[in-house]
Amino acid sequence: MKICPQCRQSYDDDGLNFCLNDGSVLNQAPSSEAKTMYFEAARKTTEYGVAPQSQPPAVWQGQQQMQPQQFGGVAPYAVNRDKSLPIISLLLGIFSVLLMCFVIGVPIGLGAIITGALAIKNENNDPGRFGGRGLAIGGVVLGALGLVAGLFFFILYSIG
Ligand SMILES: [Zn+2]
Repeated sequence: MKICPQCRQSYDDDGLNFCLNDGSVLNQAPSSEAKTMYFEAARKTTEYGVAPQSQPPAVWQGQQQMQPQQFGGVAPYAVNRDKSLPIISLLLGIFSVLLMCFVIGVPIGLGAIITGALAIKNENNDPGRFGGRGLAIGGVVLGALGLVAGLFFFILYSIG
């Protein structure tokens, strides 16, 4: 066994004197260097008490069984949840703020709060079917703003 000092290439042919890659004079490799290094056997990854899990956690198993019948194979929390009520609430909320100077802003704001609260209640009861909680919250907040401001302007006009 010979070894090249430049590129560490080893050659089994002892008759070879020069490296075939770079032409350096080959050294006689010490016998220990020729041996393949052995590491200890691979560490068992389960030894820290983490059992291999062939099944998902119990919480998820019930949901996965429900999926095919209830949602027709479509996963829950899909994008096509019913968001019509939250959108109505948000639109009413925007209108109530825009029309807050007029008395009509008060009932529109009230409508936004009611529809928004209903939308949030629907999503809490059946989150697989109803979505748009953020829109509904926006509707409730804007509706409340329109309602309060509308009442404020109404009182202001009444006094004036
Ligand atoms: Zn070499």
